[in-house]
Formats: sequence, C-alpha cells, structure tokens
Amino acid sequence: MSNDNLIETQDLSVGFPVGGKIFNKSTLMAVNEVSLSIPRGSFFGVVGESGSGKTTFGRALLNAAPITSGSAHYDDGEVNYNLGKLAGADLKEYRRRAQLIFQDPYAALSPRMTVRDIIAEPLEVMGLCNSRDEVDERVREIAGLCRLNLEHLRRFPHAFSGGQRQRISIARALVSKPRFVVADESVAALDVSIQADILNLLKSLQDEMGLTYLFISHDLSVVAHTCDHVAVMYLGQIMESAPTRQLFQSPRHPYTKALFSAIPSLDPDDRGKAQKLEGEIPSPTNRPSGCQFHTRCPFATDQCRREEPHLETFEAGHAVSCHRWRELEMAD
Ligand code: SF4
Repeated sequence: MSNDNLIETQDLSVGFPVGGKIFNKSTLMAVNEVSLSIPRGSFFGVVGESGSGKTTFGRALLNAAPITSGSAHYDDGEVNYNLGKLAGADLKEYRRRAQLIFQDPYAALSPRMTVRDIIAEPLEVMGLCNSRDEVDERVREIAGLCRLNLEHLRRFPHAFSGGQRQRISIARALVSKPRFVVADESVAALDVSIQADILNLLKSLQDEMGLTYLFISHDLSVVAHTCDHVAVMYLGQIMESAPTRQLFQSPRHPYTKALFSAIPSLDPDDRGKAQKLEGEIPSPTNRPSGCQFHTRCPFATDQCRREEPHLETFEAGHAVSCHRWRELEMAD
C-alpha cells in the first residue's frame, strides 16, 4: 500500500443474498470489484445516480457493510488495518478513527437528549475519557470548532435550524478525533444558502484536524466545488475517476458526459445540448452482460454487450472504463 493513501481497495465487492424459499435466491451485488485509492488528506468525491452503490461502498469502508470479496486496507501512518478482517480491539479503534456524517440532520439527532449529551455519547460509549470533566472539555472544544455556542449545549435539537443541526451532527462525528470521515449526502437535505456554510465548515475542519473525507453525493455542482478527486459510480462499478478539474473539463466516459450535460447552464448557447440519459439503472440482481452501461449507452456495440471493459489509467490519476472512449473522443 502506498504511503500517500489512507485507503486502498482492490476488487472490493459487497453482495447481499435476496429471495428465499418462495422466490429464486440471487445475490444483489451493490458494489462490484471496485479498485480505488483515497489519498491521505483528500476530499474524495463519489457521484452517481440513486442505486449506483455509492452509499454501500462508503459503508463497506466504515466496516458497516460486509466485504464479500476483494480487499480494503486502511493506513493512517499510526495504524494499518485489513478492513475485511477487523475484530476485537482493532475494530474498536477503527470505529474511533472512521466516522459517518449522516444525510438528515433532523432524523440523526435524538429529540430527548441535550446537545451536550448527543455530542458526548460517542466518547462515553467508546470509553475515550476518564472523567465527566474530560468529556465536557472535549465537547466544548469540538462545539467551538463546529461554531456552536456553549449556551447551545444545554438545549434540545428541536430548538435549532437545519444548518445548526448538521453542525451538531458533525461535532458528534468528530468528537472522537477520527482520521477518516464518510459524509453521505451530508448537505442534500439543506437549503442551498446553508449548504455553502456547511461545506466551508467541513473544509476548515479538514485543515484543522487533518481529516480525509469520502464525500458521497448525487449533486455534481457541490462535488465540483468541494472535492479534489471524483469517482463516478454506476451499478456498483467505477466508470471514471480523475482529479476534479480534469474530470469536469474533459470527461471521457459516455455516462460521465451524460451526467455532466444534465447540469443546468446559464449560457444560452449550451441550452438544448444536454445529452438525455434514457431509461432506468438496471437491477443489481440482474446485471447486464459486458459493459454495465450498455443498456443506456447510445454508443453501445456488440463488443460492449459481450465484453466487460476494465478501468484503464491513461494519464496521471485519470482512469476510464469504456471500450470506445478514444474513438468517441476523436469523433467529438
Ligand atoms: Fe458505451 Fe460501450 Fe463505452 Fe460501455 S463500453 S460506455 S456501452 S461505448
């Protein structure tokens, strides 16, 4: 594993059995042979439609979804773990070092607990402090970093706006001083004006606490302004992965291009150029043969229907999984 990476996955798959005695048994492959490297200190984005497997991928990296095959390794310079084989004290330590920020700040916070108790709970459950004073000191410290007033700590969640509640959720996720944070659609439920405030907070906390984020989103404009690197997922696989600027300036995969062309533009010349993405994402229990995108791709050929393309890195950090990307680029 490279010293620059916090996480590396190799052919990582996550499958769930479905069906039973009445219905035919099959396996829902939510994540299918994903190989990715997440550099330390990066803001790494994963985008895709609903059902693309991005949330399950994030959960597998948090050890909250079972790794069916392949591997995922974590190395923050102090500890290194094979995530598929964590147990005992290592699992407990990894739970401290890897945390999740939830999507919905309204559902994530217990209405019966004060903000102080909500933020303190992970410290108490994990036994990370020796006294109540130590817990209170740590809660005050993280509340300050998350721009919450000390007076807020005595109140209950219903007294706060959506943006303030998300700051409480972030404080709770970061109170154990993690190194790796999965932010799963963490601004999707907020008004646009509040989204920018929370994204700026996540950025400043990244610098202050040395965090690495896996930022899962369906919102390409948010990802474009926040992430250093973006991976595009479709039906549990990576279709394209590149540094953010490179991906947005020169997308190569037909799926990435279709997603990007759906971003609304203020330029009148761009209107009408949107490449419509026809049809629905297929069921992960009944995956297409060959290229997973061929049922919706306007450029599909017999080879696409027959042979599965592999992720090919063609320039620094930019990889694409398509048989025809070079040919299509020349035709553009
Ligand atoms: Fe489309 Fe074929 Fe490329 Fe798949 S491999 S994205 S079907 S052109």
